[in-house]
Amino acid sequence: MNKSDSEIIAGLLTEEGLYSELADPNLADILIFNSCAIRENAENRVFNRMQEFNHKRKKKSSNQIIVLAGCIPQYEKENILKKYPFINLIIGPNTFEFLPQLLSQVNSQSALHLAEKKNTNFVSKTILRTSNDQAWIPIMYGCDNFCSYCIVPYTRGREASRKKEDIFKEIEQLKDTKYSKIMLLGQNVNSYGKNLYDNYDFADLITDIQKLDHIRTIDFLTSHPKDMTSKLILTLANNSKVGREIHFPLQAGDDEILKAMNRHYTYAQYKALVEEIRKHIPNAYISTDLIVGFPGETEEQFQNSIKAVKELSFYRVISSAYSPRKGTVAASMPNQIDKEEKHRRLLLLQGTISKFAFAQKK
Ligand code: SAH
Ligand code: SF4
Repeated sequence: MNKSDSEIIAGLLTEEGLYSELADPNLADILIFNSCAIRENAENRVFNRMQEFNHKRKKKSSNQIIVLAGCIPQYEKENILKKYPFINLIIGPNTFEFLPQLLSQVNSQSALHLAEKKNTNFVSKTILRTSNDQAWIPIMYGCDNFCSYCIVPYTRGREASRKKEDIFKEIEQLKDTKYSKIMLLGQNVNSYGKNLYDNYDFADLITDIQKLDHIRTIDFLTSHPKDMTSKLILTLANNSKVGREIHFPLQAGDDEILKAMNRHYTYAQYKALVEEIRKHIPNAYISTDLIVGFPGETEEQFQNSIKAVKELSFYRVISSAYSPRKGTVAASMPNQIDKEEKHRRLLLLQGTISKFAFAQKK
């Protein structure tokens, strides 16, 4: 989603004649850092880089403008102005369309622009796509799931689907370009259409996109297991344009941890869904995300995640150590696990992944 946002920002600035490609960011008049707040590491990295550039800017007494965009400002709110007064403009993930206008008003005082909700009616005229052959298309914004560890619902706001006409307008723009593959994006694509249509869901959207001659492959990120339906599985199975790697985040292999994470499924339900997908789509490559060291996770509960990796032959597993995000329910749970222990579990899990996942070859 961040990559897609960056392409949209670059497109908006191109329309205003404010963007051209440079090999060296030090030579840029405007530096935009599009930030991620999902884990503490991502946050530290962007601050280090910004400070590095600010230091160089001071040394050269240059007028370079530094912009911090994305989820970190929405997470930190007013604190960010106090912490990093050198940033010229700070803009959350829901207000990108105002960036060109705001850039023209930048002065020495830093300014903060946040919004709780994204304008779902915004359709980009120009998107500066960076991928070689796959076009990213957001189909919905925000998230309503409030997994107890996750900051996304607080930074990107409530879930809202884009109108199908707007999505089709953006896909139409890909005609006669090199993009015949698309990646549909949303925090939970399986609930596409909720609160917008009574009778049109993600499966219907896929069926309609599949009819377009200029689209050869349709992929999507991310589908939540609690909203995976038999209708969707059959739609995917019967649609030769749908890519066969399905990202299907499990997060933990233990039922108590899944409950504490507020994921709304058990390991057995998840496993049954994987089996159903594999039954109907024998060549499906199922990939997943796992978090280790969630508050209170015992050795035995952690071993259930290891067991899941051994049992389910994932194609790809993205593993991370739990990172407390202030304001989320999990951050104030008792029995937080210390960094060394989380790291030990992460290494053990990654060892298992390298032995048991990637077992299937494309
Ligand atoms: N909407 C997607 C996930 C978006 S976040 C979904 O539900 O699958 C991408 C991944 O980051 C998550 O799947 C999760 O594994 C990880 N993640 C999110 N918050 C985290 C945290 N606080 N600590 C560690 N990993 C986290
Ligand atoms: Fe975060 Fe859960 Fe929403 Fe994914 S579904 S973005 S993990 S709250």
